[in-house]
Amino acid sequence: MTTDAATALAARTRAFVREVVIPAEPGWGETLGADVLDELRAAARDAGVYAPHAPVAFGGLGLPLTDWSPVFQEAGYSPIGPAVLNCMAPDEGNMRLLEKVATPEQQERWLRPLVAGSIRSSFAMTEPHPGAGSDPDALATTARRVEGGWAIDGEKRFISGAEGAGFAIVMARTEAEGDFEAGATMLLTPLDAPGITIGPSIRTIEAAIAGGHPHVRFDGVFVPDAEVLGDPGQGFRYAQVRLGPARLTHCMRWLGLARRSFDIALDRANARELFGSPLADLGVAQALLADSAIDLETADALIDKAARVLETDPRAGAALSSIAKVHCSEAVWRVIDRAVQLCGGDGVSSGLPLIQYLNEVRPFRIYDGSSETHRWVIARRAARARAREVAAGEPRRDEVS
Ligand SMILES: Cc1cc2nc3c(=O)[nH]c(=O)nc-3n(C[C@H](O)[C@H](O)[C@H](O)COP(=O)(O)OP(=O)(O)OC[C@H]3O[C@@H](n4cnc5c(N)ncnc54)[C@H](O)[C@@H]3O)c2cc1C
Repeated sequence: MTTDAATALAARTRAFVREVVIPAEPGWGETLGADVLDELRAAARDAGVYAPHAPVAFGGLGLPLTDWSPVFQEAGYSPIGPAVLNCMAPDEGNMRLLEKVATPEQQERWLRPLVAGSIRSSFAMTEPHPGAGSDPDALATTARRVEGGWAIDGEKRFISGAEGAGFAIVMARTEAEGDFEAGATMLLTPLDAPGITIGPSIRTIEAAIAGGHPHVRFDGVFVPDAEVLGDPGQGFRYAQVRLGPARLTHCMRWLGLARRSFDIALDRANARELFGSPLADLGVAQALLADSAIDLETADALIDKAARVLETDPRAGAALSSIAKVHCSEAVWRVIDRAVQLCGGDGVSSGLPLIQYLNEVRPFRIYDGSSETHRWVIARRAARARAREVAAGEPRRDEVS
């Protein structure tokens, strides 16, 4: 259930995306120019739709997480909509993490310009094999204690946005010290700090995120104590603060693009005459359309529930966001793929944007936890919860009579 304010903002965003953003979309193989992005962002501010999720004190509209979905879906109806509203990955997830964990000084230095759109950011976790990927415990990058701070050594890869970003939040392994446990620590660093090398680039199939997904090397990169994010050793805990909502916001944005694809499929199915009737009246085509309508609604409902639970019970909400992530990442792929199918040859041509959309959403089944990692965690969690119930006295239901 969204609030009246969110409903009104979603309606404004819908109108803005259709009237201003879609006409400015770059063509096949082109990228959005920085000047055009600046102009579109200025228009978004004028329309009162800019940075819907960010805190009011830092220049956003301060919408609560439970109200993000309808607005983010409207933004995601265009592949460039989230960038125009400054609610795209990885910046949006980093804004939330900085809002929740950063010191006031860190917020002034990093969060304020990030919300203003004057800098971009990265989140650096994944490493070349055998380092951190699906298994964060394999984290190999280290931060060792030095006079006045920490020195980071290691290599990251697939670091979205790193080319041209102002700063990164880096996950590094740290030793126990004083009151602080050994574990992972998050450190804030400008990406032009001495000892940082960006590259080589990695070519991937999608294009919506500015700044690529390159390797980033750290050779003794100094980070002062004041730029540790939260407490040393608590990085994995803070990663959950970021990841639970960040997974959901990816679902929201990509669901918007799946809705656009569904509209393309519906328009084509209504207009195309085949075998003496509109495509929309042919049973096998109707099955594709119906399955897409079901995928869109179930994804929407799961996102909504996970967002509500995340606000009241972060642990249960994280579990639900994991379920929502698997379902949505696979559902949006299916919806766009069915739209491609219904549009025939046009579906796989540059005449329609559907193949581009399919490329945009495919990596979502891998990043933010692959479908397989999530299914493994979901199954383990369910089995353990049931085992605890049985241990507490609930009768087993599998006994043969
Ligand atoms: C476009 C894109 C953007 C990205 N952006 C960032 C970023 O900004 N910052 C960042 O740190 N990282 C980023 N990543 C990296 C991403 O998070 C990793 O690719 C992901 O965590 C998987 O790690 P990996 O590639 O090392 O694959 P691996 O860890 O080698 O996993 C490979 C496969 O193993 C299977 N698998 C995993 N777990 C299980 C299991 N429990 N049971 C059975 N099978 C399993 C899955 O099929 C998985 O895809 C990005 C990746 C892409 C593609």
